[in-house]
Amino acid sequence: MSASRHPALLSTDPELASFVAAEEVLQAQTLRLIPSENYVSAAVLEASGTVLQNKYSEGYPGRRYYEGQQNIDRVEALAIERAKGLFGVDHANVQPYSGSPANLAVYLAFAKPGDTVMGMALPMGGHLTHGWGVSATGSWFRGVQYGVRADTGLIDYDAVRDLALAERPKLIFCGGTALPRTIDFAAFAEIAREAGSILVADVAHIAGLIAGGAHPSPADHVDVVSTTTHKTLRGPRGAMLMCREEHGKAIDKAVFPGLQGGPHNQTTAGIAVALHEAAQPSFTAYAHQVVANAKALAAALLQKGFDLVSGGTDNHLILIDLTGKDVPGKIAAKALDRAGIVVNYNTVPFDPRKPFDPSGIRIGTPSLTSRGLSTEHMPLVADWISRAVDAAAKGDEQALAAIRAEVTDLMAAFPAPGLPLS
Ligand SMILES: *Cc1c(COP(=O)(O)O)cnc(C)c1O
Repeated sequence: MSASRHPALLSTDPELASFVAAEEVLQAQTLRLIPSENYVSAAVLEASGTVLQNKYSEGYPGRRYYEGQQNIDRVEALAIERAKGLFGVDHANVQPYSGSPANLAVYLAFAKPGDTVMGMALPMGGHLTHGWGVSATGSWFRGVQYGVRADTGLIDYDAVRDLALAERPKLIFCGGTALPRTIDFAAFAEIAREAGSILVADVAHIAGLIAGGAHPSPADHVDVVSTTTHKTLRGPRGAMLMCREEHGKAIDKAVFPGLQGGPHNQTTAGIAVALHEAAQPSFTAYAHQVVANAKALAAALLQKGFDLVSGGTDNHLILIDLTGKDVPGKIAAKALDRAGIVVNYNTVPFDPRKPFDPSGIRIGTPSLTSRGLSTEHMPLVADWISRAVDAAAKGDEQALAAIRAEVTDLMAAFPAPGLPLS
C-alpha cells in the first residue's frame, strides 16, 4: 500500500495498515481461481468506504425509524431500482448482510421451525444454508436433500421430483456452490408447482452471469431469487432478495424487523454502483468471457488428463476430481497456493474421503477474467495446475517456486481492478 492510498490509516494504525498492504501485494501477485471471489472496481471500493457508514436507517426508503434519511433513502431506492431493472423482477430487497442471512430471511418469510425444506446436499454442490445438518437451517428445519447422478454428475431431476412429491417441502432451493452446469429453473418450477412448494433460486455464484446474459434467468420461474452481491456480480460483500410483488411484503418483513436491524448503507451504495456497472455492455462481454475462459480452461485440463465433475462446465466453475491422481484435494490446494495459484479444496459428488480432506479442488474464472486474461492464456493456466499437482505428489518445492515466479510475472502484466499497480 502506498502511503498516498490510505494515508489516514497508515498514520493512525501502521500495524493494521501493514496487513492491508501485504494483502494488496498478495492479491496483485497471485492467480486467483477461487470461483466465489472477484475484484471490485475502484468505484465500488470507494462507495463502500463512504460516510454512509455513519448512519442508522432501520426500515425502508420513505418508512424509517430514524430521521435524517434524505440521502440514504435515495441511495437505497437507486440500488433497488437498478436491481429490479437488471434482473427483471417486481421487488428487490438490498439489505441482507450476506448470502447466509438472506437465505435465513427466506425461511422466516415462508416456513416455521420443524417444517420440511429441500435443497441440494452440501457434498453434491449445494450450500450449507439449504437445510444441511450443521447449519441452523438444518437443525431448526427438517432438511431433505437431492444430489447429482453418479454416471453424469448432473442434477437428477427425476429424483428431485420423486423426493419433492414424497416430502411436500415448504421450500425448495435450487442453486449451489459447486455446480459447473446450467440450472434448469423451468424444470424446478414444474416440480415445485406439483409439490406445492415455494421455489427459491439461490444464484449467489452465477448472479453476474445472469445479469450479463451468460446464464438463463430464474426471474420468470421462481418465487424468490436469493443472491450474494460479491461473487460474479462483482459488488461489495452483501446480498439481495428479489421476488414477484405478491411476496414483497413477506420478504421485507423477514429481513427487517424479522432478522436484522439497521442496513449497512455503505454496502448498499457499493451494491448500487456494482449494479450500474453490471448494466453496461462491457459487463455483458465480461460475463460471456468468464464462461468462454472456463470452457477453454476445462478443455485444457482434460487434455492434461484431469477428471472434471460432469466432464466440463457451462458456467464459471470447474470441479476437478483428483481421485485418479496421487494427491488429494487439500495437499494439491496447498501446493497450488505455494505456486501462487489460489484455489480451494472441495468435496466431489460421492466423495470417498472426508469433507475436511476431500478429493477435489474447485476453481473458476471470474477473477482472472476481471484482470483481462482470455482463452489464449488458459492452456498455460492448465499447465501450471498440472505441473503443481505433479510437484505436490513428488514434494518438489523447487518446481512450485518456479511456477510461482512465472505466475507473478504474468500477473504483473494484468493488474487487478481496484488494486494499486505494483
Ligand atoms: C456464497 C453462497 C452463499 C452464502 O453467502 P455468504 O455471503 O458467504 O453468507 C449462499 N448460497 C450460495 C449458493 C452461495 O454460493
